[in-house]
Amino acid sequence: MGTAQSWLESANAAHCDFPIQNLPYGIFSNAANPSPRIGVAIGDQILDLSVLAASGLLKIPGAEPAVFSQPTLNGFIGLGEQAWTAARARIAELLDSGCATLRDDAALRARALSSQADATMHLPVHIPGYTDFYSSKEHATNVGAMLRDPNNALLPNWKEIPIGYNGRASSVVVSGTPVLRPNGQIKLPDQERPIFSACRKLDFELETGFIIGQPSKLGSPIACENAESHIFGMVLLNDWSARDLQAWEYVPLGPFNAKTFATTISPWVVTMAALEPFRVQQPAQSPEPLSYLRHAGKHAFDIQLEVYLKPEKSAEATRLSHTNFRYMYWSMAQQLAHHTVSGCNTNVGDLMGSGTISGPTRDSLGSLLELTWNGKTPLPLADGQTRSFIEDGDELILKGWCQGDGYRVGFGNCTGKVLPAIAAA
Ligand code: CA
Repeated sequence: MGTAQSWLESANAAHCDFPIQNLPYGIFSNAANPSPRIGVAIGDQILDLSVLAASGLLKIPGAEPAVFSQPTLNGFIGLGEQAWTAARARIAELLDSGCATLRDDAALRARALSSQADATMHLPVHIPGYTDFYSSKEHATNVGAMLRDPNNALLPNWKEIPIGYNGRASSVVVSGTPVLRPNGQIKLPDQERPIFSACRKLDFELETGFIIGQPSKLGSPIACENAESHIFGMVLLNDWSARDLQAWEYVPLGPFNAKTFATTISPWVVTMAALEPFRVQQPAQSPEPLSYLRHAGKHAFDIQLEVYLKPEKSAEATRLSHTNFRYMYWSMAQQLAHHTVSGCNTNVGDLMGSGTISGPTRDSLGSLLELTWNGKTPLPLADGQTRSFIEDGDELILKGWCQGDGYRVGFGNCTGKVLPAIAAA
């Protein structure tokens, strides 16, 4: 499939995120049809799977055509891997330059294709549960050095356990949704008691997330070797973080309100099938993990990641960071094996965040906390402003893609603009 081309010209551009090799799933609506339904991104267009299914062109074993008219991907994802494989193969066939079915039928094309620019994207999945890990060694080391002890930056459990916590699924929002600056308790160093205030240290966290495709039962751990078969696909994820709220509240049970006000994900779910050619070896692990966390072969993925910040009244976005998902110490398979080893079950649509992804260099850090070293060294922006933390009106833009030979498998953008806090009472 590496050399395949589509009859849709925009899909064949070298830097297009959505060539025929990608085919990510999302939920969209538009003026022609305000009902949210399943689409696949191709070039600058969306292929409407509800139209294909209703026309008898997308017959998937075990799938009612109506599954593609649902307002979330959960029904389709729940059909299982055979259905995912069959749908991907059929969609690729219909979009291939050599296939006349859609290419030569102008009336059908007009109903089945619509512009991404004119579409409203919706949260792609109903998310029963959201878990956030902490699996970048560089990030954990930087945060430990900054907030605890530079000589013992990593806690003793970090190299034994893919550290994580149960996050808040209700506030996961789709890219483009505005993010309200949170209010909460802040403990100032010169005062004995906390104040109630709008967050003064609002941050982003550059992450990816994976979506559970095959659920697991209560009491049935997922084996590490088999864990990837439970994953449907990946999204970009911005785990917005209120650092000043976090500093006061996180002892002893971890972050609470500092993370619950919003988590933004990209609208297109890139499937594991599309990511398969970009599998690479993960970093060496020492000590060797306990046996339930071992897997042979390659379990990291070469996904380039970028973060941009665009102030409200500025025409220019500044790139703050450029890093790669392949640096992650713990793999998604290891995260999932650890998550379920206690007997904890998973559901279709569960979202698992990677944890902030930081690389080894100054320009590859995945949060402002690290990029400005807790505000001590503000970052210059392209328009002459500087930033220690996010200001009202700033828009954060996450991008991600895998670079193939002459094509990209991209994620599109994951964006959010910060709005002022509700005035404190
Ligand atoms: Ca996080």
